[in-house]
Amino acid sequence: MSSQKGNVARSRPQKHQNTFSFKNDKFDKSVRTKKINAKLHDGVCQRCKEVLEWRVKYSKYKPLSKPKKCVKCLQKTVKESYHIMCRPCAYELEVCAKCGKKEDIVIPFNKEPENAENNQRSNHRRSCKRNEESDDDLDFDNDLDDTGENQAD
Ligand SMILES: [Zn+2]
Ligand SMILES: [Zn+2]
Repeated sequence: MSSQKGNVARSRPQKHQNTFSFKNDKFDKSVRTKKINAKLHDGVCQRCKEVLEWRVKYSKYKPLSKPKKCVKCLQKTVKESYHIMCRPCAYELEVCAKCGKKEDIVIPFNKEPENAENNQRSNHRRSCKRNEESDDDLDFDNDLDDTGENQAD
């Protein structure tokens, strides 16, 4: 009789599975979704906030690719999707930035100076140094007119 030696039963099936999967696509998608999900719908009323949240939930929220025109200042300063007004305008008028109505704002805008380079409006006043006693702008303008002829320094 033949003796069996060293016959160790290998119960491990030789699987040649390719466990490699393309994660890039998934990853990219989730980051984008996360970004949108993390979006703070500030400066809008309760109803508009719900609408925006609904859009996010059902993946109908489309981020703006470029700024839209604000209905108030008519500048392309609207950076939020579905908003009709830019932040400064909505903030100033205390209205919802999306529907433009005077409603209770759920999350008020942070009064933060957004990138100033976008605010290239004609008001030069702000970029000029302010006098300690800022009582009159006209006075200040006059000062600028004659360019330092009578400089005491
Ligand atoms: Zn505006
Ligand atoms: Zn609204």
